[in-house]
Amino acid sequence: MSPTNESHSTSVLKARNLAKAFGSNVVLRDIDVDIRRGQVVALIGPSGSGKTTVLRSLNGLEIPDGGTVTFGNSDGGGELAIDFGTKVGKKDLAALRDRSAMVFQHYNLFPHMTVLKNITEGPIQVQKRPRAEAIAEAERLLERVGLADKRDAYPFELSGGQQQRVGIVRALALKPQLLLFDEPTSALDPELVGEVLGVIKELAEEGWTMVIVTHELAFAQHVADEVIFMDGGVVVERGPAAEVLRAPTQERTKLFVKRLQ
Ligand code: ADP
Repeated sequence: MSPTNESHSTSVLKARNLAKAFGSNVVLRDIDVDIRRGQVVALIGPSGSGKTTVLRSLNGLEIPDGGTVTFGNSDGGGELAIDFGTKVGKKDLAALRDRSAMVFQHYNLFPHMTVLKNITEGPIQVQKRPRAEAIAEAERLLERVGLADKRDAYPFELSGGQQQRVGIVRALALKPQLLLFDEPTSALDPELVGEVLGVIKELAEEGWTMVIVTHELAFAQHVADEVIFMDGGVVVERGPAAEVLRAPTQERTKLFVKRLQ
């Protein structure tokens, strides 16, 4: 199911001039992000540069002080345009959150629910899908990531890598237009990183549209079509992964890439 050239040029998301301050701490200035269907965008940069805040702004988990986020037409709906410069209503916010699904650094599974319930809760309660359909889909996805036998387990019974694979399945089950990953492997023991990156790589190959905040530069180079390097709340450099990571033009990018490779 690799994306065709035609679908590749279709815009999934356009963010313009995103701005955010926490009190007097200005953390985002004039951030633009463009994501086309089937594209994988890696967001890299030093700690505190604003990467997570950008990611959370794209689905309204963080409300920027200004800027716009526009989602293109999806199967189930038309264009969605949110202007954070005006008051954003609950309905718009819910619509924005429905377009994408987040995979969190610390998995954020519900501790008191089984794996299956963690996955089906959103589709059944929020999206009002038929229970049997949601369960069948969850089982199919669990099988895919090698966790069919963990269906009735609780999160505490799973390794970090297994919990994160459940986190990914939970996001997939929502059938979002866009998957957002917030440092999905940085809480994992080194030996568990590979199994999670492997799943993300497969999703990229299948044509999922994704934005990934990551410190794994080798992985970004391997999987991302485009890399955005942020520092101090601004985009310093962006472009094809190989160019930004191997032949950056900006001094700040050069320093960052050299330090981590
Ligand atoms: P990164 O993901 O690049 O590490 P973040 O987006 O997490 O950066 O953070 C950018 C800046 O915003 C940091 O200075 C951080 O302390 C600040 N920040 C993030 N979230 C909050 C918050 N909820 N309240 C106050 N400051 C925050």
